[in-house]
Amino acid sequence: MTHPLKTLQAVTAEWPHYQADNLSVADAAALLSRMVQPMAASPDTTELLSLQHCLGRVLAQSVVSPVNVPPHNNAAMDGYAFNASALASAPAGADLLQLQVVGTVLAGQVWSGSVGAGACLKIMTGAPLPPEVDTVVPFEQVSFNPTPLPGITLKPQQIKKGQHCRLLGEDLQAGAIALAQGERLAPAALGLVASLGIAQLPVLRRLRVAYFSTGNELLSLGEAPRAGAVYDSNRYTLQGLLTNLGCTVIDMGAVRDDPALLQAAFVQAAAQADVVITTGGVSMGDADLTHSFLQHLGEVLYWKLAMRPGRPMAVGRLGQALLLGLPGNPVAAMVNYLALVRPTLLRLMGARADPLPQLQARSLEAIHKKPGRTEYVRGILSNHSDGTLQVQSTGQQGSGLLSSMVHANCLIVLPPQQGPVAVADLVEVWLLQCLA
Ligand code: AMP
Ligand code: MG
Repeated sequence: MTHPLKTLQAVTAEWPHYQADNLSVADAAALLSRMVQPMAASPDTTELLSLQHCLGRVLAQSVVSPVNVPPHNNAAMDGYAFNASALASAPAGADLLQLQVVGTVLAGQVWSGSVGAGACLKIMTGAPLPPEVDTVVPFEQVSFNPTPLPGITLKPQQIKKGQHCRLLGEDLQAGAIALAQGERLAPAALGLVASLGIAQLPVLRRLRVAYFSTGNELLSLGEAPRAGAVYDSNRYTLQGLLTNLGCTVIDMGAVRDDPALLQAAFVQAAAQADVVITTGGVSMGDADLTHSFLQHLGEVLYWKLAMRPGRPMAVGRLGQALLLGLPGNPVAAMVNYLALVRPTLLRLMGARADPLPQLQARSLEAIHKKPGRTEYVRGILSNHSDGTLQVQSTGQQGSGLLSSMVHANCLIVLPPQQGPVAVADLVEVWLLQCLA
């Protein structure tokens, strides 16, 4: 990180009405954003990659177009190209115009002959328009007469000057910014870069995120079931979320609730990652296990967020690494990740803010809600027969019910001031289809 960072304490001290035990999601998001600095482009953080390897990476420098796209005026349809002055040259009141066909030009060819008054060129989509030609009439709108000389008949009143032509630079002009620094490279961006003839891009290095689960009850995959134990699911959910975001993931396993083991895991994780994410052990009693050594080795704050699910969260720093402690309940961990961790990681990655897609939909059911906190309800978004969006909850909202997160395609986000939701009320939803 290039900028010296303030201590977390100092950031919170500057925050009006900071309340660690009842922090709104908006305040938590604002504090997290002040606590981290975006990765800056430098020789250490930038790599030059061929375009095939750039999907999902963050652009380190804006791409300036070296060329005009398209590079020449060209036909937008298969048809006949001519100069629009021919339209005016039709005898007054004439409802038909005849033009002689002087040749054919296909995409990839350049017509070097002339297309004089009274003449036209048979042209295919994408073929360059000769300079004297500015209008294309599609095949469907003319009749072709092979004799005595090849020619076409068209109706001038159906045609507008300039129609069905794509102009040089209309997609992008030479010298214009094609993609801005911080863009997360999606398929269309890769195509756009290729259309400029650019084969490599400077991208920021991947953010390294180490994670471990905490809890005596956790079994790792491959371990035999035992009474009172559950399989650790959070690490696998996190692996998917972080991989989709474009991070390098470092899975540090499941760690027992033992201060010595936890300390070793934190130190080892912080030494090799930009961010360390843990799940479990951040609620009141549990936090005692980590509080003393994290305060001693670095810094840690324990928050109670005015949100449901996902209320307990720890934010800390150990060496250069940011620590983010999420609740252990699988849905709570995921919701907290989406609301607070994801934007923080995007900022650290040097990426442009990129919220989950947000829509409004009519609630198909009444939802119990107390004002004062943000609630995230797993929802199923669908189309009403009138074309508007409607949403219903997945049913039971226990924060351990991971199957409901699989059935959901959205989160219904009910803001702090909101009270109970009535049937047919408009609610905000976040789309979960592309958890990236
Ligand atoms: P905690 O936040 O540690 O108090 O855990 C709250 C609940 O989440 C308990 O029922 C835990 O068993 C469960 N839990 C914690 N971590 C995990 C995990 N990694 N995978 C699945 N369940 C977990
Ligand atoms: Mg626990």
